[in-house]
Order: sequence, then C-alpha cells, then structure tokens
Amino acid sequence: MNNYIPVIGLEIHVELATESGMFCNCSVDWFGKEPNVNTCPVCLGLPGALPVPNKKAIEWCQRIGKALDCSLAEYSKFDRKHYFYPDLPKGYQITQYDVPFCYDGEYEFLSRASGQQKRIRIRRVHMEEDTGKLIHENGDTLIDFNRSGVPLVEIVTEPDFDNSDDVKQFLEELQIIIRYLGVSDADMEKGSMRLEPNISVRRDNQKELPAYKVEVKNINSFKFAKNAIDFEIKRHIKILEKGETPVQETRGYYEAKGSTVSQRVKEEAHDYRYFPEPDIPPFNFDRQYLDQIGKNLPELPHEKVQRYVRDFNIKYQDAYILTRDMKTAQYFEEIIREGSMSQSSIPNAYQNFASALINKKISSDITPKSFASEAMKIYTQKTTDPNDLKESINAVLKQYSSQVTDYKSGKVNIIMFLVGQVMKEMNGQADPQTVKKELEKLLHS
Ligand code: ADP
Ligand code: MG
Repeated sequence: MNNYIPVIGLEIHVELATESGMFCNCSVDWFGKEPNVNTCPVCLGLPGALPVPNKKAIEWCQRIGKALDCSLAEYSKFDRKHYFYPDLPKGYQITQYDVPFCYDGEYEFLSRASGQQKRIRIRRVHMEEDTGKLIHENGDTLIDFNRSGVPLVEIVTEPDFDNSDDVKQFLEELQIIIRYLGVSDADMEKGSMRLEPNISVRRDNQKELPAYKVEVKNINSFKFAKNAIDFEIKRHIKILEKGETPVQETRGYYEAKGSTVSQRVKEEAHDYRYFPEPDIPPFNFDRQYLDQIGKNLPELPHEKVQRYVRDFNIKYQDAYILTRDMKTAQYFEEIIREGSMSQSSIPNAYQNFASALINKKISSDITPKSFASEAMKIYTQKTTDPNDLKESINAVLKQYSSQVTDYKSGKVNIIMFLVGQVMKEMNGQADPQTVKKELEKLLHS
C-alpha cells in the first residue's frame, strides 16, 4: 500500500449583516420571512434596474481580508459570472473575477491534532451577491428571492490543508474572527456561513498537486465538513489503489448516510463567460482609506491569546478557551482589571481567575468586581495555613490587648480591626472569613 497525503482547499461564503443588500435597499434580514416579501426590481433582476454597490459591505469584506493578512487592492471591479439556474434571476451573478478586493493572505494556527504550527495561504477574499433559494415541496420546486442580493463574501484558501481536523479547527477559528469583526453572525445553521471543501489525494513522493479535485457541497456543520472530507479521502485512495484517477466533479454530502454522492461534473471558468460588470464603474481606493481598515480592526482572538499568555501568565489552553467569544474575553479582562490589586500580594491570581471562570466555580452572572473577590476567597481559603493562622492570631491578640478588652466589654465591631491585623500579619495569605471565625473562637474561649 502506498502512502497518501490529502490535499484540501476551502471555499467559504459569509453573508454580511449590513442593513441593506449588496446592490439594492432590501433588508439582509431574510431568514424566516414569508417568501418573496423582501425583493425589489434590482434583486429580482428586472430589466432596466441598476445596481448600486453597498459601501459598508465592501468595507466589511476588506475588514475580513485584512484580518486574514491579505493585501487590499487599490484598483478593483465587479464582474458578471453567467450560469443558468432558477435561483439566479438575471442569468448572471455579480461577483469578482480577476481583481478581488483582497488577495494573498495567510492564517497561522497551532494545530490541536498535531501540536504543530500550521500556515494556510489565503488566495483571495472577494465580494458577491447571494442568490435566491429553491424550496422543494410535494414534488414542486418553489423559488424564494428574499435572499437574492444579500452581500456575500467568499474566502478562498490555497490547497494547504492535509487533514480534516485542521480544516475543522481553521473553520472554528475563522467563524470566531468573523464574529469579532462584527460583520456577520456566521451561523452555519442559518446559512450565513457556508463552506465547500475541495479534496484530492497525492502520493507522498509526488510533489505537484493532483490533476483532479472534488468539491463537496451541502455541508452545514464543521463536524460534517470533517466527515465529508474523511469519506472522500478514503474513497479517493481506494480508486487510486486500483490505478485509476477519481473523477473531477461536484458531490453532495448526505448527513444521514455520512457519505457523498455525485451531483455534476464541474464547469470550467470559461463556461461562465466572465466579463466586467458594465453597470458598476471600477474602484480606485486611496491608500489612506485602505490603511485605515487595518488600523480599525479589533484585537483578534489569536492576538488576545498571545497577550493573555504573555501579560497575565496564564496557560495557553485557558487563554484559548477564554477568547472563543468576545463577551467572555471582555468579562475576563474586567475581572483582571478589578483584581489587579490582588496580583501583587498573591502569585498566580490571574491564573486563578481564569480557572474559576472556565471551571464555572463561580457564576459569571455577577459583576467582574464581585467575581474577582469571590475568586480571591476561594484561592486564599486553599492557602490558609492553620498553624500560621493560630500563631498570627495569638500575636495580634497579645499586641492589641486593649482592643481585646474592648471587644469583651461588648464592642464587638472591633473584631474587623483585629481581622485586618491578622491578614496583615499573614501577608494576605488567608481567607478573611476563616480568620474571623478563628478569632471569635479564641476570644470566646
Ligand atoms: P477552480 O478553477 O475549479 O475554481 P481553483 O484552482 O480556483 O479551482 O481552486 C478552487 C479551490 O480548490 C481552492 O480552494 C483551492 O485551494 C482548491 N484546490 C485547487 N486544487 C486543488 C487540489 N488539487 N486538491 C484540492 N483542492 C484544490
Ligand atoms: Mg463564488
């Protein structure tokens, strides 16, 4: 048996959550609406209707590109891609062909599967319009154009993946980046994030890419993406072992069977008869505008991870978990801010905050400030040394004998002063509640 290496590249679509459509004023909020209530002459492709590009959508596309380390094109344009399918009212899709808004990016991540640093090249990030939706019902095919013209960003990677686990991890991380950017909910179930893996397999001594590839559609979760890829890899190897080459085609994934089925032999680019969109003039972006896009990016999840490890000295895995959604990351950073006083007196307080939050030792329904003090209590409780405590209490009782007398004569509030003195004596390495209890015990004995 030969050794085979999978070759996988991804095409990912993300629907932008702008207010209006890519080229018209219809809402992008099509999901769950009664069919064909969210349409206009532009997105229905009626004769004479003219497209007006959505500035915000283009900027958000460039934001995604920048987050993936792409270069942003100064000159760019839209093109028409022709094909006939009932969900495409104009008979062509407005998309980008030879000069996408963003190109030549890369993304690095620490592979969970192999423990190795992986680098995936991003070929392009471009802008296009979404199509309508076909609904198959009781043997009929119905068309809903509510989704037609929703701004759609396409991200294309080079075929740099060699296993399905890395693909799944990349997709999870990409989804989080998109959410951080605030440009889409990137929800796989609603179809606001969709993906098509391209798969082939090469022999380990074969340098060049295989001459064929198979594109898989109809995948609506990251887990299914992994399953579909694994299914394809096995299928290709079986064919290659017989001395044959798998057919280059588009296949559909069927979740119930966990398998793929041939849909169609894929078109070549020339079948699409691409040409520049004559109704939209080309773009010349000025440098300042493009530079600003990069400057306005939020701190991205992988950057947060690095900063947490470096500045807060917490475990990489914990930093990773805490940055998977922006809300949790922000909450954690506020805890750190509130609890930063404690860090000086107690080593590893930040790691302790991280553990308490991840392991849900404390509910995160409370304010970051309360969370920090609750976490400190748990932490110090653990390290209250009973012998140290007795010694400290005895020392304090001796030194502050007049306060002890006051206490015994009924001024019980003075106990808080004594607790404070014991805490001081113990360099903060004690839980105040425990100190108070012990003090009371001794004062009453
Ligand atoms: P097409 O011209 O058919 O659109 P491209 O070369 O533009 O094909 O690539 C489309 C996608 O397929 C990209 O994500 C790319 O990484 C991937 N791809 C290209 N060649 C291969 C291959 N041999 N095996 C797997 N994926 C590939
Ligand atoms: Mg496309």
